[in-house]
Amino acid sequence: MSELSACHCSQCRRQSGHYQVAGVVAKDAITFQSDVTLTWYRSSDHAQRGFCSKCGSALFWDDGGDNMSINIGCLDRPTGLHLASHIFVADKGDYYQISDGLPQADQYE
Ligand SMILES: [Zn+2]
Repeated sequence: MSELSACHCSQCRRQSGHYQVAGVVAKDAITFQSDVTLTWYRSSDHAQRGFCSKCGSALFWDDGGDNMSINIGCLDRPTGLHLASHIFVADKGDYYQISDGLPQADQYE
């Protein structure tokens, strides 16, 4: 899995209710025990978002490439993972500050 980034874009904020932390994984490394409730929502011209149609949890972001982003908030603890950066900070909400000292970018890096 890639380093974790917190995405502050308006789509992630609207889907999650705040910002969303995700890691990128090769699709061929992902297996599903069950995907009966996995539902996809086309959120833009170039990507879709996977969520659980039973509980509503936001799970994945997929642009149709070889990799897919997994929303880390849906994983059971302990994850052993650590947030590494913030992306799309130019689009962040105006009701909070980012003060953890991690790198910030106005787009995806
Ligand atoms: Zn985003």
